[in-house]
Amino acid sequence: MRFADLAAAYEQLESTPKRLEMRRILTELVRPLRPPELPYVLFLSQGALRPEYEAVELGVAASLARRAVARATGVPETTVAQRTESNGDLGTTAYDLVAALHRLDAGEPLTVEAVYRTLRDIAGATGAGSQDAKVDRLTDLLARASPLEAKYLVRFVLGTLRVGVREMSLLDALATAFADGSKEARGRIEAAYNLSSDLGLVATALVEGGLPALDAIRLEVGRPIRPMLAEREPTLAAILERMGGSAALEYKYDGLRVQAHLFEDGSVRLFSRRLEEISAQFPELRRALPAAVGRRPAILEGECVPIDPETDEIRPFQEVSRRRGRKHDLDVAQEEVPVCLFAFDLLLLGGEPVLHRPFPERRRLLAEALRPGEKVRLADQRIVRSLEEATEFFELALAEGAEGVVAKSLAEGSGYRAGARGFWWIKYKRDYTAGLSDSIDGVVVGGFHGRGRRAGRFGAYLLAVYDPARDRFETFCKVGSGFDDAALAELPKRLHGRERDARPEGVESGIVPDRWFEPGLVLEVRGAELTLSPVHRAAQGAVRPGAGLALRFPRFTGRIRDDKGPTEATTSKELLSMYQAQVRQATSGPPSAGAT
Ligand code: AMP
Repeated sequence: MRFADLAAAYEQLESTPKRLEMRRILTELVRPLRPPELPYVLFLSQGALRPEYEAVELGVAASLARRAVARATGVPETTVAQRTESNGDLGTTAYDLVAALHRLDAGEPLTVEAVYRTLRDIAGATGAGSQDAKVDRLTDLLARASPLEAKYLVRFVLGTLRVGVREMSLLDALATAFADGSKEARGRIEAAYNLSSDLGLVATALVEGGLPALDAIRLEVGRPIRPMLAEREPTLAAILERMGGSAALEYKYDGLRVQAHLFEDGSVRLFSRRLEEISAQFPELRRALPAAVGRRPAILEGECVPIDPETDEIRPFQEVSRRRGRKHDLDVAQEEVPVCLFAFDLLLLGGEPVLHRPFPERRRLLAEALRPGEKVRLADQRIVRSLEEATEFFELALAEGAEGVVAKSLAEGSGYRAGARGFWWIKYKRDYTAGLSDSIDGVVVGGFHGRGRRAGRFGAYLLAVYDPARDRFETFCKVGSGFDDAALAELPKRLHGRERDARPEGVESGIVPDRWFEPGLVLEVRGAELTLSPVHRAAQGAVRPGAGLALRFPRFTGRIRDDKGPTEATTSKELLSMYQAQVRQATSGPPSAGAT
């Protein structure tokens, strides 16, 4: 195919807002094509050179493209820049400048194949002198281009191709051009795409072997599968009803979804939910995974969550997001924000795809295949058969730092649905965006030995509120965040003389710290919200038998409340009214509050 035909199709696509018309144009565009041209056109139309997960980047900055336009048209770079400044698009500038040349003989017409290969060369140029090489190649293409070709070449290179072709429209076009266009054909094509994330591969198989050839496309290690997605329901009761009375509830960890591909030789590639390769960001997971899963090749999915190295508690998601896209200072990042992968699904094991098996079986295989360690663990799960059980597990999830639960169907048909959102998975989380506006003054009743950078000191403290009616100190959180080096050095001095080997009289706690402290020192903390807890004892039984109150994501504000004695700390009753205010706020909020 001549590149001019592709550029003309783009021009048409850009000028029509009608979906049906777009579909017709795309279908006509792909119909005459065969491999290898067909995949080229599919990739180019998505503004890419290869499937997204391969992350092949052209690496041509706007300044380089400007230089190439200037050179190819013999116009000074400043003029190119000025014109682009006023019309807002270097592609349009390229069109105008090439048109003004009135080229009579531009030589051999450009073909899609030649353009594609040159673009691959441009992408492949790295290292010293690569910028010049990129500009040279682009200049050559532009020197041979018609105005329209130049416009779309430049836009492609800059990533501003605005023809609005989404992968779903391309799948439609493939179904019409190379199959009977039926819903069934479209479904099979999409299924193959969801499994392989590679439109070029799917189109090639379809053209060469028809629909049956798609069945040969299998899940393969190194090629990410499009992730299964969760639906939502407003209440746990609605979830149970949908799932026929019972379900597997899992903690919904608030982190980064990771698809881990483990090769036979122990090498690992990690992909994000959007199928970007994120292997470089998590070297510690790449190291830990082969030790955790012996039966390889394997593909598993999990949520990558920051973990406080001192307290082993789940940290807020923002801390892991800081590591995305970060390629330098990885050692620093690992120490600052250590992460743990909570594995929740298994798609391939020992080279065998297991994704079509019902979820309970996949979970069993995952549990059997995984040797959990510090960095890779199994997602917490419980099979629930009543609303009571579901509520209890949900509260436990919140108490332990998860953002809610994901309910998973136990039904026969609960195979992994690549790329699909459905009621086989239903998410439910509490809306706690309001946060806790009040700070809490907690009494230090225990300390935990630090690890890593905090080795040899206390890395976290156990805090309690005071119940004047019973003269008791009841724990409500273990706080390890918000302490700078000065505070870490200062606190043991302040606590000197209060150390105890056994739990001091009057302290109530379901947790045993490394060191007890006689209540005395008061610290100010803040947190995200109050939750019910099976281990903390603040206002125990006031909301539900056996449950105490706990502060989620506690953080030391930096303020030691020297002005307060232990009995002047926040009381259990105050904590209870904060909890009740929070519940009122949640239930009287907009209808969407309660589950997002
Ligand atoms: P959302 O991003 O709100 O649509 O919720 C679904 C996401 O929750 C998934 O894409 C995962 O990243 C995340 N997640 C956390 N824990 C789990 C779990 N146990 N099972 C499935 N997804 C989970």
